[in-house]
Amino acid sequence: MSARRDHLETLAIHAGQPPDPATGAVMTPIYQTSTFVQRGVGDHLGYEYARTGNPTRAALETCLAALEGAAHGLAFASGMAAIDTLLKLLDPGDHVLAGNDVYGGTFRLFDKQYRKYGVEFSFAELTDPAAVRAALRPNTRWLWLETPTNPRLKVADLAALAQAAHAHHPALKVVVDNTFATPYLQQPLALGCDVVVHSTTKYLGGHSDVVGGAVLTSDAALYERLKVLQNAAGAVPGPLDCFLVLRGIKTLPVRMERHGANALLVAQFLADHPQVREVIYPGLDSHPQHAVAQRQMRNGGGMISFYLNGGSAYDLVKHTRLFALAESLGGVESLIEVPAAMTHGSTHGSPLEVDAGLIRVSVGLEHPDDLVADLAQALARLAHAPR
Ligand SMILES: *Cc1c(COP(=O)(O)O)cnc(C)c1O
Repeated sequence: MSARRDHLETLAIHAGQPPDPATGAVMTPIYQTSTFVQRGVGDHLGYEYARTGNPTRAALETCLAALEGAAHGLAFASGMAAIDTLLKLLDPGDHVLAGNDVYGGTFRLFDKQYRKYGVEFSFAELTDPAAVRAALRPNTRWLWLETPTNPRLKVADLAALAQAAHAHHPALKVVVDNTFATPYLQQPLALGCDVVVHSTTKYLGGHSDVVGGAVLTSDAALYERLKVLQNAAGAVPGPLDCFLVLRGIKTLPVRMERHGANALLVAQFLADHPQVREVIYPGLDSHPQHAVAQRQMRNGGGMISFYLNGGSAYDLVKHTRLFALAESLGGVESLIEVPAAMTHGSTHGSPLEVDAGLIRVSVGLEHPDDLVADLAQALARLAHAPR
């Protein structure tokens, strides 16, 4: 009998979350406990101490693994805790080749912490598979990719890069930070990549009320090492946080459809506006990797970056009413920020430095006409502001 697999919409609601066997509760209980009773030494129901394992966390780990098509999942206290735990697998002398646009916190952890432990990092143009191939070294252990990238929204051809990396060395792992796309829009493991990492703080949680992270993989050996580290280093999420992410995930597919539809309308408005010099959105034909995005993603996602045609980015972000000036992304409400001064300050003076004029928006689920009107009035005020 061939096993029929449920669709992602169904997995988002049910994977890892059968009704509670003890009570019949339909929603996964928040197991707010630090420890679990044992009848005799080692004789227990599968849980001993909540750093090692907690049933609410286990439900989230199973659900996230199902969404990414992974055999194994691990949840962490933040996206950075997930990334830090992965980096702890490396030895001095190992090399990580990363795409040349990454979240500022990821760059900071590479550059300020793991470099001093003797791990080598370099960066390659992730939109050019030949450039990535040429930058691989004999000691390269991982190829580290975001796509779309934060904040320039570059799109990497995951299938082509995974093939190039594995041809270079079969043991080379391709790690993808899938935070911007989510498993609804894009599935890196199905494209040949080895590990997916998430900041569940963003679209997976989806409501700007929780910080969390996750690592998903089908590589059993890697999973076993990570599970030991998850327990040994202990950057685990609490049960309430796991519950909030589980609740957010149930609506991920409908939210991502609307985020993508709203963002396309906002991107088209910006692209036609005389005071906007350049719009970067993977769903627009004008995006340099639009064809790859169309092949690899269900829609262009909810994030847009753009440059003004004169006028100050700092002035624009002061004048929006609905787009709140704040770090983070992926919530139901729209946000706006200036990455060079906010999320990506750590790249200042590095080869990854973000242009001070770049503005990044996270398009929320408000009515798109209201969002467009808000940006229109903010751009109009900019026109009349003294230069
Ligand atoms: C926010 C973010 C992170 C870090 O996640 P936290 O939950 O804030 O620790 C990592 N990668 C990307 C792409 C992000 O946007």
